[in-house]
Amino acid sequence: RTLKIGVSACLMGMPVRYDGTAKTSADCQQLADSFEVITFCPEVGAGMGVPRPTIYLTGEIAAYQARLHHNNQDVTLALEHYSQSRRNELAQLSGCILKSRSPSCGVNSAPLVNDGQATGELVDGIFTQVIRAEFPDMPILDSDDVDDELALAQFLLKATVYGHAELCLGDF
Ligand code: SF4
Repeated sequence: RTLKIGVSACLMGMPVRYDGTAKTSADCQQLADSFEVITFCPEVGAGMGVPRPTIYLTGEIAAYQARLHHNNQDVTLALEHYSQSRRNELAQLSGCILKSRSPSCGVNSAPLVNDGQATGELVDGIFTQVIRAEFPDMPILDSDDVDDELALAQFLLKATVYGHAELCLGDF
């Protein structure tokens, strides 16, 4: 069956970032020629709108939260709730390609900030964290690695295996 890949909406050219822009990736858009692509924007999905205040990740590496920069409101639960609300669609995916460094979508690439200073630690965004918790074996590629042919090939191979395993389990 065709691979079904989840991709951060801004990478596909949708103007959903905090400032109403996209972060278009020609490499991601090209994937849509061969595979089924499902888009996600956790921050819009969580009701934060476009444009919207920026958020950052803060706290201990084992338990961090997403907060609005301008008033420090904790938006972690809203992002988690959105992620859980898309669980059925996530369960159909063979893999995900998510926007690097985003506090929602980052793949081990979002900076942790404490007392206004980056700690130097890089973590998953809240959406990515939920996907990993719910689907620990799902291959997830950071968008910065999409133009690395080897990394992309390895991701697609893993996604094929993961997708097939899911298909077999569903068949029996
Ligand atoms: Fe939306 Fe994720 Fe892109 Fe941010 S990185 S605009 S949350 S899809």
